[in-house]
Amino acid sequence: MSLKEQLIEHCREAGPMTVAEFMGACLYDPDYGYYATRPGLADDFITAPEASQMFGELIGLWCAHEWEVMGKPAINLIELGPGRGVLMQDAWRATQRIEGFHDATNIVFVETSEPLKEEQGERVPLAEWAPRLEDAPPGASIVVGNEFLDCLPIRQFVRGEDAWHEKLVGLDESEKLIFGLSAPIAAPDSDDEIGAVREVAPGLDSLIYEIERRLMEAPGRVLFIDYGYAKPEGADTLQALKRHKKVDPLDAPGEADLTAHVDFNRVAYLANEAGLQVHGPIPQGQFLRALGLEVRAQTLSKANPERAERIQREVRRLMHADEMGVLFKVICLSSPDLPPPAGF
Ligand code: SAH
Repeated sequence: MSLKEQLIEHCREAGPMTVAEFMGACLYDPDYGYYATRPGLADDFITAPEASQMFGELIGLWCAHEWEVMGKPAINLIELGPGRGVLMQDAWRATQRIEGFHDATNIVFVETSEPLKEEQGERVPLAEWAPRLEDAPPGASIVVGNEFLDCLPIRQFVRGEDAWHEKLVGLDESEKLIFGLSAPIAAPDSDDEIGAVREVAPGLDSLIYEIERRLMEAPGRVLFIDYGYAKPEGADTLQALKRHKKVDPLDAPGEADLTAHVDFNRVAYLANEAGLQVHGPIPQGQFLRALGLEVRAQTLSKANPERAERIQREVRRLMHADEMGVLFKVICLSSPDLPPPAGF
């Protein structure tokens, strides 16, 4: 039975499901979920480390710098959702001459997808894996997550004329999957427009709680890079991508990547409440400029003139406001007693 048929049967038996339940099944079903069955992620979307080796290199140098600032402890370099392992491969190569860093570092990948784990192991042979952040070894840590938070399943609430409703996935008369709305669940606030959508990722709360535990126990930083809310808020940001094209999320469950924009205000709010330091969110372009992307690109181009044009295209892709430079944001959460991180 396909995932779509299973979801239809589930709705028939148990009634409509939340968007988060639907998203969770599409992404994580161990047999049919997107991440379990589609290791060739780049077929569907290109992330920053896939677009340019300079991205992972700079993130690697940032990690090494922060390790020095922390007093060069033995450290867990943890990546959440490493995909094909490209970021860490570039980061590791770029930091090989930083004295003591590789010896002090234990690379830990937090990954759910079996086929992706295999690919990660080929690119980064030293890595070990943990199923969840809480399973990673204790101690000082630097955690990186690029396009990880956008996979966390969201619930969606829609402001109707007289009330808020939860958006649900159910069946129409011909037993096709459709979006619908729950019965009214709360009176609307006066300043929300009719049709406005609010999105909440329940998994974000538990993730920030786990980060709090880790960063309070031992020094550490967490760097998240992802696409955040573009103004105006109130938009429906659930998106399904298949072969670089937007598709209907209900069309082929498990075959398209499903994501939602990250609510960085909520990340910052939860981390602040937890007593962590918060830097950012700032635009990705600004962060990469502060880390010296343009300088590195110039050096690379001088050394490889035949690649200069391509390098220029990569810089544009990562930094320009029309590409990933502004919509993508960077936020850093840190243990209370560390100085501010580089780049913010
Ligand atoms: N960081 C990579 C890949 C981004 S795609 C890059 O920038 O190219 C999202 C990644 O997160 C995939 O590797 C996916 O399998 C993983 N992932 C998604 N949800 C996860 C979860 N809850 N726990 C662990 N890994 C997860």
